Amino acid sequence: MIEAVISLGANLGDARGTIRGAIQALAQTTGICLKAVSGLYGTAPVGGVEQPDFVNAIAIVETALDPQELLGVLQSIELRWHRTRQVRWGPRTLDLDMVTYGALVSDDPALTLPHPRAHERAFVLVPWLEIDPRAQLPGWGAVAHLLDELSHEGVTMLPNP
Ligand code: ATP
Ligand code: CA
Ligand code: CA
Repeated sequence: MIEAVISLGANLGDARGTIRGAIQALAQTTGICLKAVSGLYGTAPVGGVEQPDFVNAIAIVETALDPQELLGVLQSIELRWHRTRQVRWGPRTLDLDMVTYGALVSDDPALTLPHPRAHERAFVLVPWLEIDPRAQLPGWGAVAHLLDELSHEGVTMLPNP
């Protein structure tokens, strides 16, 4: 089993319900064992497109799937929420990114590992650190250290439920 870190994001419709549903869908997938889930965070959009705030979370899983299979699962879960790709970095019902797959490093554009922008995204690193204070981003080092250099502005934990 390999540990993989999944980033979840949504900013259209019932974003919180979507994130919870996607976590449940991950947990119910054969070959995926959910190890830890962060709280839900409200985050300001990045990339310059005018759009609603996002709800973001991180899930740590152990998986028997290979990286391509895991990406396929993430994309099929996105489709259950009718994910479409219109505007780059634009609004979406659900976005599931593979932040890491074990220590694997790949520059394949179809599956770049670790995720090429994770190191600069507080909305990924803050929830990850919440559930794994010793988290390491392969090639980049300790997540806690990366976060020292980033503004956490615009990343706030949402009240439960
Ligand atoms: P960003 O990658 O900046 O977060 P995005 O999530 O909006 O942007 P998408 O449109 O969801 O980008 O994905 C574009 C392509 O990225 C997908 O078709 C997928 O093959 C590829 N991709 C490359 N590396 C990864 C990864 N680590 N996790 C998920 N998708 C990836
Ligand atoms: Ca993304
Ligand atoms: Ca994506």
